[in-house]
Amino acid sequence: MHVILMGPQGSGKGTQAERLLPRLGLVSIATGELFRNAARLGTPLGLRAKSLMDRGELVPDDVTIGLVEEKLDALGVLRSRDPAVLGALYDGFPRTEAQARALDDALGRRSERVDSVVLIDVPRERLVERLAGRRVCANGGHVYHTVFNPPKVEGVCDICGAPLVQRADDTPDAVRRRLETYFRTTEPLLAFYRGRGLLKTVDGDAPIDEVTEAIVRAVQPVPSGAGRVG
Ligand code: AMP
Repeated sequence: MHVILMGPQGSGKGTQAERLLPRLGLVSIATGELFRNAARLGTPLGLRAKSLMDRGELVPDDVTIGLVEEKLDALGVLRSRDPAVLGALYDGFPRTEAQARALDDALGRRSERVDSVVLIDVPRERLVERLAGRRVCANGGHVYHTVFNPPKVEGVCDICGAPLVQRADDTPDAVRRRLETYFRTTEPLLAFYRGRGLLKTVDGDAPIDEVTEAIVRAVQPVPSGAGRVG
């Protein structure tokens, strides 16, 4: 199963991905997280990505697609060893039409396909407020909000005890640029997936647990025979 989470920065993709991965038996392919890890390690790719990320610009498609291909190869190995792993959950990828087409090709070569695309819909005016209060665990993935999703102890990750920090690209300037890029380049992808009958929309302005349940319902395959009359 391959599920794509779509939505602008601040819509809650990272928060929801954390909850959905164990529920759905999927592994994460979160390109932003992969780039941040590479930057922390100081690899050439990481250093190149960091300067673009900090300015709120996209990493070039060929680099991003290459990274996702590597993750798909690793996923293939993992699934051959662990039948509980059912596929991948994509967060922050694809962001351009070239990336969407490359993902189709990469999955097609593996006799797989995108099964669902879920848009987490949040009113535009709420996004900046959400991004300003966002805090992330210095170790990586865990996401909090000072008001809407605070940790138990201020400034400390509930899960691994690491300090919580603000992302380098959550500055007002970078946030403005990232949202502009989303609405110009990534939002048109919704039509691409809607046209294939894959797009489902959930209300992302609801409480976190409700959003999770709505996504789980949206990606469950419809049982054969369901909805048939007579
Ligand atoms: P995110 O954590 O998804 O908000 O991503 C953080 C940053 O990583 C973005 O602002 C981009 O600079 C870069 N990035 C993440 N995913 C992609 C992608 N699919 N294509 C290009 N750049 C990306």
